[in-house]
Amino acid sequence: MGHKVDFVCRACRYEERDLGLGRGRMPVPYLRLFSCDNCHSVGSTWVDDATTPRCSLCYHDGIQLLADDAETSVCPKCGERGAFIHHRDQIWE
Ligand SMILES: [Zn+2]
Ligand SMILES: [Zn+2]
Repeated sequence: MGHKVDFVCRACRYEERDLGLGRGRMPVPYLRLFSCDNCHSVGSTWVDDATTPRCSLCYHDGIQLLADDAETSVCPKCGERGAFIHHRDQIWE
């Protein structure tokens, strides 16, 4: 089961809330966290093993996938370090 994640940057107050992560009922595709240098966003996007993952916001295919258990990441807006808040009790399917 996947869970929900928020990204929060205290420096510039950029945040993305209610991101899905992980697997639902089907093993593939599954949701992974990414950082996009094209539209300067973090988010989660569907990934399978056959196609190039794309930004869920601007559809750019040069995104950087982040570890599923990432606790922090560089904020794409301001370059400071933002935090991922994992809500492992908030399950999506
Ligand atoms: Zn920031
Ligand atoms: Zn993008």
